[in-house]
Amino acid sequence: MRIDLHTHSSYSDGVLTPAALVERASANRVEVLALTDHDETGGLAEATGAACEARIAFVPGVEVSITWAGLTLHVVGLGINATNAALAEGLAGIRLSRGLRAVQIAEQLAAAGIPDSLAGASRLAGHAAAIGRAHFARFLVEQGFAADTQSAFKKYLGRAGCAYVTHRWASLGHAVAWIHGAGGRVVLAHPDRYGLTPVQMHALFDEFKELGGSALELSGGSRANPVALLRSAKHFGFSLSAGSDFHAAVKGVADVGEIPPIPDCASRLWQDWEALRPAA
Ligand code: AMP
Ligand code: MN
Ligand code: MN
Ligand code: MN
Repeated sequence: MRIDLHTHSSYSDGVLTPAALVERASANRVEVLALTDHDETGGLAEATGAACEARIAFVPGVEVSITWAGLTLHVVGLGINATNAALAEGLAGIRLSRGLRAVQIAEQLAAAGIPDSLAGASRLAGHAAAIGRAHFARFLVEQGFAADTQSAFKKYLGRAGCAYVTHRWASLGHAVAWIHGAGGRVVLAHPDRYGLTPVQMHALFDEFKELGGSALELSGGSRANPVALLRSAKHFGFSLSAGSDFHAAVKGVADVGEIPPIPDCASRLWQDWEALRPAA
């Protein structure tokens, strides 16, 4: 079964509308698709309708930004009821803080000699309330301050960049509680992409297990050997989730439906994907 449980639309920092994303998934013969915009569920209704027409099983999701031990991490909620009040309020709070951070990023860029980036990033974000660094990156590329997104992050927006703003996101405990409260399963997104030490990784998995987390994610952008992740999943009793983390069609980057191969012995979160659909 071709699945993709981690994708983005224009409601966050993806470039395709939810309907266009579903269309691309359909062209790529994806059978089970989740939309997981950053801190935002506004695209789910459109994606649900489009998936129904395309006969794709749709899993409503979200990718929540969290701060854990001073580090920014992401957890994915799958099978959420987006109308749940606590989840909606929690996400609205994060989006509000994204807006405040965007002002600070623009100030840093102005200090580096790049004016008007807030207006530019907002224009590129369109109606997306979840304004983020990817929108700033696109603005920097558009204006010729960076050759590509990667170098925009390296020079300006990444942790070592001159316009990096330290930010406090939601706590892991809150994010997990919101997702569980909305009937969803919680997945630790791309654990191999945070540069954690083995000791930090172990502490994170321990806490995640304690809180009732369900799965570790193998993502399209995974750099590390999945063997270590599989071993951890087995050790802690997590199943595996998998997704492309698709944002836009870019050469050399995972397309919708492109996920790393999952060994037969692994326990798959989507084995019982009907359970990932929220109760009506
Ligand atoms: P934010 O949540 O606004 O801080 O932005 C995080 C998003 O920026 C990620 O979800 C990616 O879409 C993008 N991103 C982060 N680091 C990089 C990078 N080095 N190159 C390209 N995109 C990146
Ligand atoms: Mn993103
Ligand atoms: Mn992420
Ligand atoms: Mn993502």
